[in-house]
Amino acid sequence: MGPGKIKVRRLPLLPLRGLLVYPSMVLHLDVGREKSVKALERAMVDDSMILLCSQSEINIEEPSKEDIYRVGTIAKVRQMLKLPNGTIRVLVEGVMRAEITEYLVNDEYYEVTAKELHEQDHTDPEIDALMRTVLNQFEHYINLSKKVTPETLAAVSDIDEPGRLADVICSHLSLKIKDKQEILETVDVRERLEKMLNILNNEREVLELERKISQRVKKQMEKTQKEYYLREQMKAIQKELGDKEGRAGEVDELRNQLNEAQLPDRVREKVEKEIDRLEKMPATSAEGGVIRNYIDWLLGLPWSKRTEDDLDLAKAEQILNEDHFGLEKPKERVLEYLAVQKLVQKLKGPILCLVGPPGVGKTSIARSIARSMGRQFIRISLGGVRDEAEIRGHRRTYVGAMPGRIIQGMKSAGSNNPVFLLDEIDKMAMDFRGDPASALLEVLDPEQNSTFSDHFIEVPFDLSSVMFVTTANAIHNIPRPLLDRMEVLYIPGYTEIEKLQIANRYLLPKQKRDHGLQEDQLLVDEEALMKLVREYTRESGVRNLEQQVAGMCRKAAKQIVSDPSTPVHITTDNLKDYLGPAKFRYNLAEEKDQIGAVTGLAWTEVGGDTLVIEVTVMPGTGKLTLTGKLGDVMKESAQAAFSYTRSKAAELGIPTDFHEKNDIHIHIPEGAIPKDGPSAGITMGTALISALTNIPVSREVAMTGEITLRGRVLPIGGLKEKALAAHRAGIRKVLLPQDNEKDITDIPESVRNEMTFIPVSHMDQVLEHALVKNKPPAHVG
Ligand code: ADP
Repeated sequence: MGPGKIKVRRLPLLPLRGLLVYPSMVLHLDVGREKSVKALERAMVDDSMILLCSQSEINIEEPSKEDIYRVGTIAKVRQMLKLPNGTIRVLVEGVMRAEITEYLVNDEYYEVTAKELHEQDHTDPEIDALMRTVLNQFEHYINLSKKVTPETLAAVSDIDEPGRLADVICSHLSLKIKDKQEILETVDVRERLEKMLNILNNEREVLELERKISQRVKKQMEKTQKEYYLREQMKAIQKELGDKEGRAGEVDELRNQLNEAQLPDRVREKVEKEIDRLEKMPATSAEGGVIRNYIDWLLGLPWSKRTEDDLDLAKAEQILNEDHFGLEKPKERVLEYLAVQKLVQKLKGPILCLVGPPGVGKTSIARSIARSMGRQFIRISLGGVRDEAEIRGHRRTYVGAMPGRIIQGMKSAGSNNPVFLLDEIDKMAMDFRGDPASALLEVLDPEQNSTFSDHFIEVPFDLSSVMFVTTANAIHNIPRPLLDRMEVLYIPGYTEIEKLQIANRYLLPKQKRDHGLQEDQLLVDEEALMKLVREYTRESGVRNLEQQVAGMCRKAAKQIVSDPSTPVHITTDNLKDYLGPAKFRYNLAEEKDQIGAVTGLAWTEVGGDTLVIEVTVMPGTGKLTLTGKLGDVMKESAQAAFSYTRSKAAELGIPTDFHEKNDIHIHIPEGAIPKDGPSAGITMGTALISALTNIPVSREVAMTGEITLRGRVLPIGGLKEKALAAHRAGIRKVLLPQDNEKDITDIPESVRNEMTFIPVSHMDQVLEHALVKNKPPAHVG
């Protein structure tokens, strides 16, 4: 068609709102506006043709020329139906594009002149290719959008006119009116298809984005839904397994426990709060476990549970005697202590500290105290405790936090007034993690311990009803402030006779019972027991002795089982069949009198002991060597002995230049055991002089005493233990400082009677008694 054939027509105009009609489209329109109805009526009067143009703005009721797109579609009205509400439904069929050329003056309806817009015929292959691509894209679009049915695709694929194809596809897309209008206005078919392709591409991208977003959202939804579902399922499972297992059951049970427990208000409030917290925790959370643990601790402590004191002094005495042989002084002191407690009703007095070597019955006395008062007994060892947290606990924020040992002890006591034994209080250490001694001070201080604070428990605990008893091997390692709060009760070692009695009356019956032996199934001769004491043990207490007795019972039990009718009889002769060969020689320390070797007496934390001091003199340049792990005080003591010897060399008949021509070596055997203190002074002096003069020292003599530069002998401590040790070693003559003479009465009579004690005040006297060929210069003595 040439341009000359362009036809201009006069037509009524129907403005469309939110809608656009392409040629060849057939569709229903509902028409309500008066002008539109008039336009329709006019069209029906003529040839039923009408121009349909879209409004650019959907909301405008009475559009002006500017509000209406100039390009529209000439349509034929096929049907008209008046609806009950006054509007008219029409069926229109698009015929061709047209452009308004002029609005005519008409008050009743819009009337225009419009020129028809014809498309060119196209049959070139490029258009074909474009068509195919558009169709392809449309198919993708349909797959993605799901808004258009596949039937539509089938119908669209049948279209072979390129222009129409674009129009129909466009009518199926949900585009803005503006975009649809653009397609309508594009008369050139190629151009229209290209635009269509663009739009489709855009739409597809948008759709894909939409899909991705919705998938992501969906995934997230699914995840939360899944978790919710699983949690519900878990609840259901827990319910099936019995309500107790879930938090709900747990919390109920804790509340019951709380109601039954007798707790101070402060503690009750705390537990309530923690139970509330626990309730909100998911059943499996780790924090829930921590809270639960804490609640259990609070509920488990004896906040107000206590035992009734039943303190009868006669009964207490009986119990102490029942459990212990001897120990007259400590027993009496304990009874006095208990009497005071009974009178004042409140434990405000000093704390008992039982001091003595291992195995002398410190722990067992404390246990008897508890028994005689009718209280629970708790023992904790402080040996090696170096961290304040061990006393006072860790804060709950630590992983695996626990209360300190005091609170742990209180829990296992189950009452708030037990007898609480703090063992080895002298073995506590101190380091960067804080000072356990100061924490302990708070525990023991009656002014402070009613509100003892443990880091874990947080709520103060009242320790004021607890009876604390402590033990130590020696007092010099007890921190001073602690020592000031305590009343020290010494328990020295036992004599052989005492040990024999203890073994006979206490240890043997006890071990027999423990090993299931009848009274008459095991007989042990007293001589055999004595041999056991002398040759199988060498200690201040009776701990090894008890072990040996237990060993004996074990062997006997085995024998009884294999031959029940024959009782076991242990004598001095067959003792070694049960316990193996003797471990110690019971006789004098040395076989014969020695030159330069002297038996000294030492006092250590584990009791008294004998030690042989050896001196060797050899040609040299005057070196003094000391070996055998000596402490500083002992070294100084050796120097003093050496200086004294030099100053007296002439009188003693020793060459005065001996210290220049000789090397001197002082050695104390058993080098692994640290030794210290000044009390070996006279022993070292004697050994030195013996070595230099070549005069032997009597093997029957042992000695103890500090030496001054001028040879005076100064007093020493621990005489009783030293005497017992000398007696154990078979020595019967002891030289001791004059000033210690008064202490001789402390030594048990049985030992005293068998020994000779010679008080000395000067080295001259020492030499006189110790050297065998007593030939000091005439003017001495
Ligand atoms: P410690 O606490 O002083 O180291 P223990 O109290 O543990 O010593 O005593 C060790 C063993 O010796 C216990 O079995 C104890 O009963 C026993 N024992 C100690 N001294 C005596 C004694 N005087 N009478 C009876 N048994 C004793």
